[in-house]
Amino acid sequence: MNYLVLDLEWNQPMDPGAPQLQGLRTTLNGEIIQIGAVALNENSQITGTYTWLVRPTFLWQMHYHVRSLTGLTIQKVKKGILFPEANRQLSALCGPDTLILTWGPDDIHILRQNLLLHDLEDWVGEWCDLQLVYARQMGEKGQTSLQSAMEALHIQADRPAHDALNDAWFTALVAQKLDLKLGQKQYREYAQRQKEKKQAQAKRRQKYPLSGETGAGYAHRGDAFQDPRLGRMRCPDCKHPLKQTSWFKLDKRRFVALGVCPKHGRFIGQIRLIRSQQENKWRGKRSIYAASPEKLAQFEAVRQKRTTRQPRVKKGG
Ligand SMILES: [Zn+2]
Repeated sequence: MNYLVLDLEWNQPMDPGAPQLQGLRTTLNGEIIQIGAVALNENSQITGTYTWLVRPTFLWQMHYHVRSLTGLTIQKVKKGILFPEANRQLSALCGPDTLILTWGPDDIHILRQNLLLHDLEDWVGEWCDLQLVYARQMGEKGQTSLQSAMEALHIQADRPAHDALNDAWFTALVAQKLDLKLGQKQYREYAQRQKEKKQAQAKRRQKYPLSGETGAGYAHRGDAFQDPRLGRMRCPDCKHPLKQTSWFKLDKRRFVALGVCPKHGRFIGQIRLIRSQQENKWRGKRSIYAASPEKLAQFEAVRQKRTTRQPRVKKGG
């Protein structure tokens, strides 16, 4: 295993709503203007340093904050090479056994975003966030700045920060003080946990209703479907009225409908009716669920049976 410490400087849009930034392949949060890289061998010895100035493709105005932090101006970065060429040279430094090291997760996100914006292949293999590894191995909580980590490890800041190569160099010096083999394992475990958390969240979203409504006092069951509070669904995400099917009978008490939001896609609505003996009336509860494959299959099965609740509910939208 060898290592490539990567640090990027990027420009930010002054106006993210500017017309020339709309209709790109993805959102542009930052356009890379400088790349710094330091190669380390398996014994954490520095074997090479690399830096590129990148000529902009999208942003032709330097954000004042970026200019004051990095000292880079449009005039300077204009002399750089285009991103596809810088990327070609950078990716050539990474073999199948190279672990990319960064300080914090932002650089990799910005790199991937720039690859997408330029319609280039995502070549980024395994990478490791040293900021997280530092916290684990030094017993720190939260995010430590590179500067604080250097101070704690008695590393001299002998060159200006916020230059891509200098920051990559400093990060490499911090990396030399950490156990990188253990760090790779620690970061893998962290990334895996994050992935599982996301999956569990997606599952919860499918299992539990996204929104609910109740209504009561219906003399007849059919009145529940006529009550717009129950019968007409709105998108749980944006409240836009859903374009929806009729309510189909699922069983004695439950009815289902499919609704579509132009922005947020499909949802499954379910109305559960309960007979109140004292009042001699019906009350109902309507829930809206994410349209999971299971919920969609269940809906399609009852729709096939055509046991439509009468009268039909008019389509919204
Ligand atoms: Zn919506």
